[in-house]
Amino acid sequence: MMHPDPRTTTTTTSTTSTAATSMINAASDALPPTPLSTSVPCAAGKVAKPSSSAPARKKATPKEIWLRADNVEKMVRAAVSFEQDIWTGAVIAELYKDLESVKKASESDTNVQSVWNTFYKKWESALLPLKEFVDRKRKDLEGQNEAEERARLNKQKMAEGLESKKNEIAAKKKEQEALAQKHKQEMAALAKAHRNHFNDPKALEAIVSENPTLCTAVVEGTDTMAFGISSVGNHHLQAFFRDKEGIIRCTKAAEVHAKVLEPLRATLAGIQKVEDWEVYVCAEVDAAVQLLLRGVPLRRIKTYATDFDLKYKPPCAHCYQWVTEI
Ligand SMILES: [Zn+2]
Repeated sequence: MMHPDPRTTTTTTSTTSTAATSMINAASDALPPTPLSTSVPCAAGKVAKPSSSAPARKKATPKEIWLRADNVEKMVRAAVSFEQDIWTGAVIAELYKDLESVKKASESDTNVQSVWNTFYKKWESALLPLKEFVDRKRKDLEGQNEAEERARLNKQKMAEGLESKKNEIAAKKKEQEALAQKHKQEMAALAKAHRNHFNDPKALEAIVSENPTLCTAVVEGTDTMAFGISSVGNHHLQAFFRDKEGIIRCTKAAEVHAKVLEPLRATLAGIQKVEDWEVYVCAEVDAAVQLLLRGVPLRRIKTYATDFDLKYKPPCAHCYQWVTEI
């Protein structure tokens, strides 16, 4: 379909004042509405002179008309910059020429309103699709800018999220370092207590084993501790033995404490005997028994064991199955 040639397009008064006017109003910066007639039709169909109270539209000043022409020109230039293909170059050139005439008339202050009306009648319908095109392009551009802004904000949020994650990790690391430091201090204090206790010749005088394990059991988070020594003969209380059927039971001496010792007895009964010695002769058992008798639950007991030289010793294959080390 061919685009309408503005030079041959005719417009009726009714289309100008209804649908076209609303579109023109929407595009008011470029296409101001035509001035109202200074006469109004009366009920009898005769034309009455406007009374002083009738809202007669003010006649546009030459400056206002110059601005209208300028707005039209700006809109057409915008359409060209958006690479419009609605008008041919020749039509645009003609419009510019007509606009120049309007501007010139408004500067020389001749009958400028009539010049504008003529211009407007000639170009109005041809300008509408151009105006719609420009509006659409501007809206697209706005949408594009908004999308870019959204993308930028998302990127910023991601960066902030990354930053907060980094901070979180750093805080966690710091916390872990503080805990490790605290643990180190606790271990040092414990090792000192362990050394002080087992350096006392009295603590070791009854030892019959050639290579005893010395264990300190502590109650987690408290200063409560007990010191244990391996080998049956040196236990503070020989609590357990294995009967003929191979079942671990409380000794006669420990029978009175059977109820509080039961969790440990059951634990030891459940571990696999893999070393040359019995599962209940270790220093860890001795220390744990002492704490159980003081009312400490088994699950809160932690151990730290050394050889006779007071150097840390990892749990044997039996103790490995049940102790919790500090
Ligand atoms: Zn052991």
